[in-house]
Formats: sequence, structure tokens, C-alpha cells
Amino acid sequence: TDKAIWTRSDKYHNSFLIKPDDGLDKAVANSAAHGLDDIAVSPAQGKFLALIAKSINARRILEVGTLGGYSAIWFARALPDDGEVVTLELLEDHAKIARENLEAAGVSSKVKVIVGHATETLKDVPSDPKFDLAFIDADKENNLAYYNEAKRVVRSGGVIIVDNVGRRGRVADPSQTDESLEGVRALLAALKDDPEVEGTTIATVGEKGFDGFLYSVCK
Ligand code: SAM
Repeated sequence: TDKAIWTRSDKYHNSFLIKPDDGLDKAVANSAAHGLDDIAVSPAQGKFLALIAKSINARRILEVGTLGGYSAIWFARALPDDGEVVTLELLEDHAKIARENLEAAGVSSKVKVIVGHATETLKDVPSDPKFDLAFIDADKENNLAYYNEAKRVVRSGGVIIVDNVGRRGRVADPSQTDESLEGVRALLAALKDDPEVEGTTIATVGEKGFDGFLYSVCK
């Protein structure tokens, strides 16, 4: 199947480019053991996010949607010693597993997990100094609300990335509709005439299927 080919391709490339990381491996295993859905970013995507953070010398990173902390560990690894990841999660159960995983990965001092509905918790996130990067990866129907908050707290020249904007091509299929698809469409419609950011969608294909990142830079 296509998925098998994409997975083989990811694994092949990863074998050259991604070093084993005990903390990340433990996070995957512990998250699975607690029954979390397998919906974290892939290793290649995690490293890509970390490399973007490094390339802009990020010190402060905001994440919406923690799950088991897998992407948060990648971000934390990309930060200098005094850097910080603030990650927002709705469910206390997920936050608890994430805290375990962050601890096991040795990055708990760099990552703050805040529990609550992100439309609320985002309003109180300390944004002085501003964030260098925001990664939006939670309930897709609130994408635009999260994006607007991210714009408020990310510095000029900073980056806002939104995951899962391709959804196997379904976002572009007008015959299909659900809250997640509408959430992505609303974000795209808002970005069309937004003078404050520049963005592009990069489709992603690999072990997590066919999806996409919306990558944007704040002016
Ligand atoms: N970024 C994670 C990673 O790659 O390791 C994966 C995040 S997972 C796709 C989405 C997470 O967003 C879930 O843990 C879910 O509970 C959380 N979530 C859903 N609705 C939320 C909300 N309103 N506020 C905050 N988090 C929410």
C-alpha cells in the first residue's frame, strides 16, 4: 500500500539522519502503554520542527496540543539551556503522561505544561518576552482562534506552524465537510488577506500518512 511505501521511505531516511534518542523512544512507549492515540508528529517531522527552531535561534516556543509531549521533547532539545517550551493541553490525563515523558527525557525543567481549554489558557500565557515559534496541533476547529492568539504572542520574524492542514487532501475536497476540515478552511480564508503574516502549505507524506504543515512567518 501507499502507507507501507511511505513508512519504508521514512525509516530509510531516518536511519541516516535521525540518531536514536532514549527519551523520545520512552515517550512513544509510555504514551502507547497508557493508550494515547498514535497522533504525535513523526520522528522526521519532529526533527524538522526542531531544526526550524534552531534555525531561528528560538528561545521560547509555544505549543497548542501536548498529547504525550513527543513534539515538546523535540522542541526542548532544540533550545538553549535557558530556553522554554510552554505547551497547552486540554486533558489532565494527557498532561500527566506528558510530564512523565518530559521527566524521563531530561527536559522537564524546560517545558511548562498548562492544562485547560487552550482558547482560555492561551489568553494568560506570559508573552513577555514574546515567543519565537508557535506550533498549533490541537482541536482543528479552533485553528483560527489559536492562530490569532499565536500572532499576538509571537515576535516579528517568528514562525507559526499549524499541523494537519492537508488531511489526505480532504481539505480541498468541497464535497467533504466536518469540523476539522472547516477549521482548516477558516484559517486559510483568514490568511488570504492577512497582511501580518506570510505562509505556505507544505504537504507531508510518511509514516503518518498524507497531511501537511502550514508554515508562516510573522512580519
Ligand atoms: N503535538 C503533539 C505531538 O506531536 O506530540 C500531538 C498533539 S495531539 C495531535 C492533539 C492534542 O490536543 C491532544 O492531546 C488533545 O487532548 C489536545 N487538545 C484537544 N483539544 C484541546 C483544547 N481545546 N485545548 C488544548 N488542547 C486540546
